[in-house]
Amino acid sequence: MAECPVCGCDVEYKDVELGELLNCPDCGSDLEVTKVDPITIAKAPEEEEDWGE
Ligand SMILES: [Zn+2]
Repeated sequence: MAECPVCGCDVEYKDVELGELLNCPDCGSDLEVTKVDPITIAKAPEEEEDWGE
């Protein structure tokens, strides 16, 4: 388990790699694995969803 940096709840993960994105089940934040051993997660940078065409 890793602690969500946004709401502090436990986020489950398994076999994550550096840079992998997780999603907090509690607050719904996008989280990025910034470090492994030990696992450290941080809020992922928000992405623009307007991709245009
Ligand atoms: Zn959270």
